[in-house]
Amino acid sequence: MAAAADTAITAPRTHLRDLAIADLEGVLAGAGAPNPALLARRLAVALHREGATSSDEAGLGRRVRGWLASRFDLEPLLDVADRREAPDGTVQHLFRTRDGHVFEVVRLKNLKNRTLCLSSQVGCALACTFCATGTLGLTRNLTAGEILESFSRAARDDDERVGDVVFMGQGEPLHNYDEVLLACDNLAHCDGPAISKRRITVSTSGLVPAIRRFTAEARLWRLHLSLHSAIEETRRALMPVARTYGLDELLEAFREHQRIRQVKWLTFQYVAIPDVNMDEAHIEALDERLQGLRVILNVIPWNDTGGTPYRAPTWTEVKEFTTALRRLGRPVKTRYSGGKQEGMGCGQLAGGILPRRPTGGHVMAPPGIFSDL
Ligand code: SAH
Ligand code: SF4
Repeated sequence: MAAAADTAITAPRTHLRDLAIADLEGVLAGAGAPNPALLARRLAVALHREGATSSDEAGLGRRVRGWLASRFDLEPLLDVADRREAPDGTVQHLFRTRDGHVFEVVRLKNLKNRTLCLSSQVGCALACTFCATGTLGLTRNLTAGEILESFSRAARDDDERVGDVVFMGQGEPLHNYDEVLLACDNLAHCDGPAISKRRITVSTSGLVPAIRRFTAEARLWRLHLSLHSAIEETRRALMPVARTYGLDELLEAFREHQRIRQVKWLTFQYVAIPDVNMDEAHIEALDERLQGLRVILNVIPWNDTGGTPYRAPTWTEVKEFTTALRRLGRPVKTRYSGGKQEGMGCGQLAGGILPRRPTGGHVMAPPGIFSDL
């Protein structure tokens, strides 16, 4: 091993965290590691399960560290720019990449474990009118290594187990398909954090070709749709992506997904915005458009992002809306956005760049009160 270490390597070295755990052994063998299977397992456990963020923390001998360092990158990809905790126990981690960009991971407190809400991009290109991230534009995709290191750093910040991972932070995950899905593979790997495959969720605003690819490739993760309206004009006004992919082909792609992947229940998210998409016409449109789909409607009361014509619904308005939705005979859940009082809720993530918008009409409801209303 030591004899090969003197080869000067000038090309940028692959970061070990960017590799699929399933490929580690082959890559190490190709580089001439004497015991690649053992080293691959040790590295997977150290980096992805134990959350080591540098070669010093990975528990490797000095010679192995030197050998790895001459061929691969193993040093931190991120540093911690900020950490804030909301009174409801939600924690927002702000990470800075090596090239100086910032993005969040939000850790939500459940009764028994934690949910980590991960970012897939710095900013987002899709410019939904109700979302703070959408106002930033897209800076760049995150690499799988950056996503996985953000997971590790946030996960090891407290003793409770991470039970769920949702790609609902900054960015459109299917816009960064390969890196996000590589990260999912590693998160579920038995040598890594071993998150249950049914507990990894990718949320999309509706990129039809990527949804079809996800179905065709038989990806194991849950795929949620951000629907927000079953009326074409409203959806287009809220989400520019709807001008490219209309409701017909979008819902057809999800019908196909449900049928081929045998998904018992799909989940469609619905950001509830008063005077925009909560009236009778929108409820009827849902009834009509969702025929033939088994869907759980997940209502997210809109969180204030500032600089928009919208207002957050009151608790009463949310309750009236969900009660009316129940007439459709479909399961309806309402999401409490953890940390929204502190600007950490769904759609409020903007890399600490925009001023925090702490409140909306519905925040007076205690955490959890909306679940399964
Ligand atoms: N880009 C993906 C995932 C990230 S957004 C997507 O759009 O699905 C995660 C969820 O938060 C989406 O359902 C999104 O519509 C919702 N969201 C965005 N802005 C929001 C806001 N201001 N209030 C409540 N939910 C919001
Ligand atoms: Fe992007 Fe999702 Fe925000 Fe739309 S809601 S701008 S797709 S992060």
